[in-house]
Amino acid sequence: MKILIFGATGSIGNTFFSILRKYKNNINVVGATCDKNIKKIKKLSEEFNIKNIGINNLKLAKRYEISNNTKVFKGINSFKKLINKDIDIIIFAISGLSALDLSMDVVKSGHTVGLANKECIISVGKSFMSVARKNKTKIVPLDSEHNSIYQLIKFTKLDFQSVTITASGGPFHKEDLSKLKNISPKEALSHPTWKMGKKITIDSATLMNKALEIIEAKYLFDLDLDQVKTVIHPESIIHATINFSNGSSASLMSEPNMEIPIINLLNVSKKIIKSEKTYDLSKKSPLNFFKIDVKKFPAIKFVYDVIKIGGIAPHVMNYNNEILVNLFLKEKIGFLDIVKFNELTLKKYFKENDNIQNPTLEDLISANKWIDLNIIIS
Ligand code: NDP
Ligand code: MG
Repeated sequence: MKILIFGATGSIGNTFFSILRKYKNNINVVGATCDKNIKKIKKLSEEFNIKNIGINNLKLAKRYEISNNTKVFKGINSFKKLINKDIDIIIFAISGLSALDLSMDVVKSGHTVGLANKECIISVGKSFMSVARKNKTKIVPLDSEHNSIYQLIKFTKLDFQSVTITASGGPFHKEDLSKLKNISPKEALSHPTWKMGKKITIDSATLMNKALEIIEAKYLFDLDLDQVKTVIHPESIIHATINFSNGSSASLMSEPNMEIPIINLLNVSKKIIKSEKTYDLSKKSPLNFFKIDVKKFPAIKFVYDVIKIGGIAPHVMNYNNEILVNLFLKEKIGFLDIVKFNELTLKKYFKENDNIQNPTLEDLISANKWIDLNIIIS
């Protein structure tokens, strides 16, 4: 089996390569990319004999020493050349919106795609899945909640009325609102159940990650606004529940570990890995569930307003968030400002710009330009 992985040096990449080390199988990694971690990508290319390497940072790409016939693709715009007919699975694990353009090449590839990146589908919107369908690209969500819904649909083969995705609540779900104002990046980066990249970890602390996942679920499974629900579940054992019309539900349970969704992806057409993990119910009680306090986590109310506005609004929220998370990490704005300034900027955006129902990539880029100049940060 031949695999191409975009974003090989990140947290998803780490889990993927640890699976390959552990299960010693016939998987051949034919291409892998990074932004600037050339040390790590070099090590990976040597360990897994990867012949095609993509490096986004041009200066660093020049410094990459080419060893025995490895081809180096420089800059993210050249990464699409890594996609060819000979690939079985593409893992799309670059973080954030920098890979928006590339996401469309991935979705047009006609291959099986393990979709970790959630930002791109949220910004591209409805057409993401229709382009995938047109090109016979099979999208397998890797986000644990969405992977669970995907599995549940496969297992039950039943029509359902709605889905519930769980949120760990991040590090502050028990904290008083008054304390959240002075949270530092270091505190926000210490997630209780998941070990992930910086951007998604901050999103988990504000619950913006769950807000983004509500939109992600809507597009992946073609659901209406009132068909996606969310609840805080600090143990992160139940990842998603699908709710049937007879009042019953089916939930998917597992340890919070990205190995499971990635193994599900690798096994999608033929079982090649038998996971050594077995879930032991007796070790994990009690399981707790809490209604989300939207005063503390306004992202969850905000996202439903954004979905109601529709059109380019999810992208505006998504792009604002990316900028604001970076500013928070640099200690330029406070923790609560991330969602507050996002809401204010979105309001201003729609005062000064018309909505676009089915935005093209060009529309998204011109919205970005407006946001870069007009984002509210104080
Ligand atoms: P990381 O920050 O750990 O890794 C990001 C990867 O993308 C790295 O390989 C990084 O390269 C690369 N990258 C970043 N910016 C660019 C760029 N401009 N051009 C090219 N490559 C770039 O993120 P995660 O692995 O945690 O997450 C990846 C995606 O998966 C995110 O969209 C996230 O929301 C989603 N996801 C992650 C989960 C997790 O458990 N980690 C769970 C569910 C979803 P470099 O190392 O050189 O910086
Ligand atoms: Mg998730």
